[in-house]
Amino acid sequence: MTRLSPWLRRGLAAFAATLLWSTAAHAAAPMPKTQAPGYYRLMLGDFEVTALFDGAIGLQPTKLLTNTTPAQVNKLLARSFEKEPLPASVNGFLVNTGSKLVLIDAGTGGLFGPDLGSIVANLKAAGYQPEQVDEVYITHMHADHVGGLAADGKPVFANAIVRADQHDADYWLNAANAEKAPAEMKDFFKMAAGAFAPYIAAGKFQPFDGGGELVPGITAVSTYGHTPGHTMYVVQSKGEKMAVLGDLMHVASVQFVDPSVTIQFDSDSKQAAAQRKKVYADTAKQGMWLAVAHISFPGIGHIRSDGSGYVYYPINYSIPK
Ligand SMILES: [Zn+2]
Repeated sequence: MTRLSPWLRRGLAAFAATLLWSTAAHAAAPMPKTQAPGYYRLMLGDFEVTALFDGAIGLQPTKLLTNTTPAQVNKLLARSFEKEPLPASVNGFLVNTGSKLVLIDAGTGGLFGPDLGSIVANLKAAGYQPEQVDEVYITHMHADHVGGLAADGKPVFANAIVRADQHDADYWLNAANAEKAPAEMKDFFKMAAGAFAPYIAAGKFQPFDGGGELVPGITAVSTYGHTPGHTMYVVQSKGEKMAVLGDLMHVASVQFVDPSVTIQFDSDSKQAAAQRKKVYADTAKQGMWLAVAHISFPGIGHIRSDGSGYVYYPINYSIPK
């Protein structure tokens, strides 16, 4: 056998060591266990819509859903390859109309722990700053929609006015209601009051009564039931329409199939179910986009009527043009 030169021997030894090292390094690579930045963008006519991920909550639909049975809920979850705890996204939607930057719902802020509260981080990742937001529209005053408005008593969106329906303000920002609320609900009142306080103090909370167009292309539509002033927002540009539903529904695998299923958090579940059915029918008929607070991120898709229920078609991942 040919004798290897010392130089070649050293080279081969180094190469073998590299192979061993790289095998070992692959085996020991740490798992980052993080996701891609949580924003998703599409164009709606001339408007740019950016869905923002706040985080996910583990829901227990068999305990929370009403006007159904745990067995029926489990059956529908299993049909969609889901089980409890069901990760429910918390989504906000940022609309750039070209002249106004409007955020619809502000997420949980610091109120729901470290797995949530990422709307501002994702807004920044998407290329915006919270100071650029002109207006924040709130679908309703539950803590997972308003918690992100304030941090340490200061407004997170320092230059924004905040708008929501007067009926929700009258109910949730009322000290007497907080006083007489059951113990498990008292925190909701406290969280809503804390979220709005800095905007009220600065004269920047401007409630509306019953909806209408708030800025050109964005209209508030009363959908009272889930809360006394629950509101959806219809965004419209060049004939394209998107309905931002808030909490008109929570669990896609159950409440599209059976819109009569309600949830414990509803202030008036009968009214909430009636609103859901009406909005499903209208949006399906018009072929509108739905943008939903708690459907799997980005929470955007279409529905088509199918027997007594609806089938949901999530948006395809694509590059906005
Ligand atoms: Zn919610």
